[in-house]
Amino acid sequence: MVNLRCALYDIPIVELPARLVAIGIKGFKSNEVVKWCYERKVASFAEMTTLSLTEREILAGNFILTTLSIEQEHRSPDATRKFLLRLSDGKCVESVLIPESDRTTLCVSTQVGCPVRCAFCASGLYGLQRNLTCGEIVGQFMAAARASTTRLSNVVIMGMGEPFYNFEAVMQAIGLWHTAPGLEIGLRKITLSTIGVAGLLDKIFSAPWQPKLAISLHAPSDDLRRVIIPHDHALGVREIIAFIRRYNSEIGQRVTVEYVLLDKLNASAAEAHALARLLRGLDIKVNLIPLNPVAEISYAAPSPTAIARFADILSQYGITNMIRAQRGDHISAACGQLRLNSI
Ligand code: SF4
Repeated sequence: MVNLRCALYDIPIVELPARLVAIGIKGFKSNEVVKWCYERKVASFAEMTTLSLTEREILAGNFILTTLSIEQEHRSPDATRKFLLRLSDGKCVESVLIPESDRTTLCVSTQVGCPVRCAFCASGLYGLQRNLTCGEIVGQFMAAARASTTRLSNVVIMGMGEPFYNFEAVMQAIGLWHTAPGLEIGLRKITLSTIGVAGLLDKIFSAPWQPKLAISLHAPSDDLRRVIIPHDHALGVREIIAFIRRYNSEIGQRVTVEYVLLDKLNASAAEAHALARLLRGLDIKVNLIPLNPVAEISYAAPSPTAIARFADILSQYGITNMIRAQRGDHISAACGQLRLNSI
């Protein structure tokens, strides 16, 4: 039987009151529904106890509140929690909850699988299966928020998938996180990460929301970048530098450059010097990401000494950089690993 009910988290917040009125949920009761969904983050309409039984039945007859469920949870001693989420069609995605002293960050997925197939990543091993809906992207946040003892303060769109291949749904999700009463996450606390897709990256200039932007560069030359990101539609290094220059001047914001460090591939002193020369003069900061080991992938992280040397060379050129702490190693916290183990 075809299910004609609409996922509630697929509806933009400004349209929700009218949609509720249309099914007979009137006036202040529609505010109640918004509160139950976004402030209290309930998992079912039955929990909306300030509404009458009839109103709850009307809601359940017209909308779906949860379109995914936590299938597995893995906890690391460093407090990182990784969720494997089952979607209504049986497919799985992952999200990772990262509690820190001053913030709690959720890393969300935007696609099932990924068409980009980066050489170091488990998510791309079997290519793309489908895009996630806005409701499924926001649903990851709601499921994690219910499981978390602290408020989710930050979102990074860096999980499974290339967000610019699902741009409209991603922008709609950012709009909900930023504007829904009870969430209201600042745009500087939402990070959108991309490899830089030709013909799509420029969409950010006319996007309805301007979150922080991170670009995965991973190499100072096109030849090396093609080995690490073997995707026909990935922009070349010079095009990415030109984009960053334009972004700095038109949007007026810094770009984070992501650089995964792979032993014997892109982490030598020569590559550090080349990267620094490439990035000089741009408003950027570099996130150096030692590879999280993936059993199916033969690359490894460089030694701590090699990682520190790479960072030092960037600093000598005045390039702001940080080495991202490896978190959740033993719970397969690298992108796509948990899902890989489940298929
Ligand atoms: S690192 Fe990101 S873009 Fe690359 S294959 Fe994995 S999910 Fe896709």
